[in-house]
Amino acid sequence: MTVELISVGTELLLGNIVNTNAAYLSEKCADLGLSCFYQSVVGDNEERLSGVLKTALERSDIVILSGGLGPTEDDLTKEVSAKVMGRELSMHEPSKKRIEEYFSSRNLELTENNWKQAMVPEGAIVLDNENGTAPGVIMEGEGKKVILLPGPPNEMIPMFEKQIMPYLSGSDLGMIYSQTVKICGVGESKAETMIKDMIDSQTNPTIATYAKNCEVHLRVTAKAKDEKEAKKLVKPVVKELKNRFGPYVYTTNADITLEKAVVDLLVANKLTVSTVESCTGGMLAARLINVPGISEVYKSGYITYSNKAKRKILGVKKGLLEKKGAVSEEVAKEMAKGAAVISKAEVAVSVTGIAGPGGGTEEKPVGLVYIACNVCGKTKVRKFNFRGNRAKIRETTVSSALILMRQCILEYYSEVAFDRR
Ligand code: ATP
Repeated sequence: MTVELISVGTELLLGNIVNTNAAYLSEKCADLGLSCFYQSVVGDNEERLSGVLKTALERSDIVILSGGLGPTEDDLTKEVSAKVMGRELSMHEPSKKRIEEYFSSRNLELTENNWKQAMVPEGAIVLDNENGTAPGVIMEGEGKKVILLPGPPNEMIPMFEKQIMPYLSGSDLGMIYSQTVKICGVGESKAETMIKDMIDSQTNPTIATYAKNCEVHLRVTAKAKDEKEAKKLVKPVVKELKNRFGPYVYTTNADITLEKAVVDLLVANKLTVSTVESCTGGMLAARLINVPGISEVYKSGYITYSNKAKRKILGVKKGLLEKKGAVSEEVAKEMAKGAAVISKAEVAVSVTGIAGPGGGTEEKPVGLVYIACNVCGKTKVRKFNFRGNRAKIRETTVSSALILMRQCILEYYSEVAFDRR
């Protein structure tokens, strides 16, 4: 079944707001097993909105429109969609009551144009809006479904999750179930090559790959008549993916992030940790400390940006800094060792690099980063040549440091070997 998204709003066309609704809806529709081939953005204009909706109805089974359900004159989505579907609008008493209650409970003055939001197309399914006044609408006809959702994400997302997802999964789609296998330390193209045969032969379940800053997420989605059946289809595929990627899989739980997996590993092995950062300036510490429960294992974080700080705080030798430079394998190693000694942490990870845009040379270009990880006295260093702007290089460095920490801990404690992929 195909779905098409239409985001309505002149603000979107002008770039005043970012179209996060489309990103959210595309991902959720893929989870539901719906194929989305087209998306459009259209301003608050009757003729153009009508045109884009008619085109969508010619080529897609389900059309989801978001935005333009407000009370003002330029909010036209419902009026135009009803016209295209050949429906009259009439007052929906339960929505009228909800709007009255919404305003009186907040001591707000209700104006005449608010009643516009309680008008719905005849024969439509009306969806309650728990966080605002505009009800959502579903119109069915001639084998098509037109779904209207409010624009504000805090209204649209709960309505989609609580009402549209069950509606779409309960219709002739059957039950949709997905599980995500998250891997780190393997590039996207390498990961795809490793499962090309599985992707090529997939029907049900399907495997979708998503690249995410140093990680690859593989979402396995099955359609079946009920949840039990769908889970049964997904299970052997997830097992095969785990087999192929081995220790590079850090979780099969969609809610677990890379940093959470690293913290869980530290906690499970009762290992304390310290971080020492130069070009990332505390970002690694912040990402780890964002995980609840980190207090059990986190000891100290040092930002040693200058050479003097590297010498004074960590004890890196002046001669070494002069000979090899601050961004070098040797200095990264000494930084991690120094942090381990002064903080008495079992795991110490250091980062030193050139985030740019200035400061690069032919020998040491922008993006050159060394990350070292010391686990109980054993140090491993990795050299990276990252691309992108300053923010991207720093973000990639942090993710790479988390991946290296995970690998070093597993190598030390579980004798798992990682190669570079
Ligand atoms: P309202 O009842 O608030 O008028 P509405 O359904 O008419 O809601 P719009 O007027 O189109 O929606 O948008 C209201 C606000 O919702 C926008 O200013 C913006 O903050 C947010 N919004 C709308 N569409 C999107 C979108 N596609 N992505 C992200 N945010 C959006």
